Amino acid sequence: MKVALVSAEAYPFSKTGGLGDVVGALFKEFIKAGIDVSLFLPLYRITKDKFFNYTLNADIVYGVPVGSNTLFGAVRIAHVSVDSDDNLIFEPSKKGNLFFIEHNNFFDRDELYGTNYGEYLDNAERFVFFSRAFLEICKIMNLKFDIIHCHDWHTALIPLYLRTFYRECSCFERTKTVFTVHNLGYQGIFPREKLEVTGFGQEMFHIDGLEFYGMVNFLKGGLFNADIITTVSPTYAKEILTPEYGAGLDGVLRKRKENLIGIINGIDYKIWNPEEDPFIVQKYGLQNIHDKQKNKENLIALTGIKSSVQEPLIGFIGRMVYQKGIDIIVEAVPKLIKEGISFVFEGSGESYYEHKIKELQSMYPSQIFTFIGFDEALAHKIYAGADSLLIPSRYEPCGLSQLIAMRYGTIPICRKTGGLSDTVEDNITGFLFNEYTSDALINAVYRFIETYHNKPKLFQMISEAMKRDFSWRSSSKKYIELYEVLIGER
Ligand code: ADP
Repeated sequence: MKVALVSAEAYPFSKTGGLGDVVGALFKEFIKAGIDVSLFLPLYRITKDKFFNYTLNADIVYGVPVGSNTLFGAVRIAHVSVDSDDNLIFEPSKKGNLFFIEHNNFFDRDELYGTNYGEYLDNAERFVFFSRAFLEICKIMNLKFDIIHCHDWHTALIPLYLRTFYRECSCFERTKTVFTVHNLGYQGIFPREKLEVTGFGQEMFHIDGLEFYGMVNFLKGGLFNADIITTVSPTYAKEILTPEYGAGLDGVLRKRKENLIGIINGIDYKIWNPEEDPFIVQKYGLQNIHDKQKNKENLIALTGIKSSVQEPLIGFIGRMVYQKGIDIIVEAVPKLIKEGISFVFEGSGESYYEHKIKELQSMYPSQIFTFIGFDEALAHKIYAGADSLLIPSRYEPCGLSQLIAMRYGTIPICRKTGGLSDTVEDNITGFLFNEYTSDALINAVYRFIETYHNKPKLFQMISEAMKRDFSWRSSSKKYIELYEVLIGER
């Protein structure tokens, strides 16, 4: 079985959030399972800086129509394997399994999707280029995949292109498509004028095509045309069929209900392992949970907060955007501060939310530390050093931070939604609350604090959380089974 994963990001080559983690982990798990898998990514500046020397130019040139222009691109290839220690090994190769689509005008930029001031204005062009470049590369290099697995709106037009412009292409005769929605909040919505960029004319501008309230919606291409749609948790798969969580697409999704399934994400146990984590000062595991405390001491020292190690320290790591519940955090924190709780926040996103969180630090500098930005090493230190992690999301397709927190014995306090309710067991491995209000969040934190002062129960919960298996093994198996069913091997 030949499988292509096509994504706008995959760790360690590029990552802004969960999408990168998930696609990177799937690639690695499939290699380990002996699947003939290829990964297609844009060659971003950050990718070039780290991985260019591991790649070779495939020496092919292809042209991609983007609106009225034909744009030319290149592709660089590497071969990736996984050693017995679970490390990725790279070799430059022209017959590899890692394909970087190169077009410097679009991808050689500081950021993946945009800056603090907003998304790049040519994102429609950039990801039409990427999607069509992938298809052109398959044609030119005669790559015949049984499964093309696309991820999120950036690649959602591929299943539509396969049913239209590429329908007659022998290369895709037997190809089945899987489209994964990692987050329905991001749909690739553009002004109507951008329809031309996709290569389609007005015939596609209708409710069963790409039209969405007078705009163009790339995600609809994937939702209508993929053979199977998956999303990243069983609960989210049900939630998105409702107007509350459907982000305007619940009607479309209800039409495809029979072909929609939820497969929970895992985390990479090589990267997220407190027993081996190179970023933390004191490694620890189930056998020596008490050693976690040294990471707390280090985090306190590092952040300069004035809290004592005996007092509870709560972390937040994530994108500072509407989805993540920052507004109820901002409302709740002044009350919680009075209880002697300290906070470490790490994240970046919309400047409004970044500003709100920074304001908290200036109000309570001895109890709050804020880092605005993306720092993998600091994230590891917070997962290991905090007692608890806040995840009060409005909605959460799966969520990885609660899984990482549990692996590090850091008790997650989460809103009961999507993947959070599929993975965290209330009062056993974490604390869940229902209502999206700061009061409900505060009550959940109080429940945690009560447990924090009841050491036998706290250690019971920590070890219960650390014992749960959130490795990719079982989730990647489910994808493989799905592929096999699709191509008729099951
Ligand atoms: P989402 O995909 O919605 O951003 P997830 O919980 O699924 O959220 O995944 C977030 C991932 O990104 C986790 O690995 C988390 O540790 C990481 N992350 C988010 N923000 C930051 C940041 N500012 N610095 C470092 N890592 C971050």
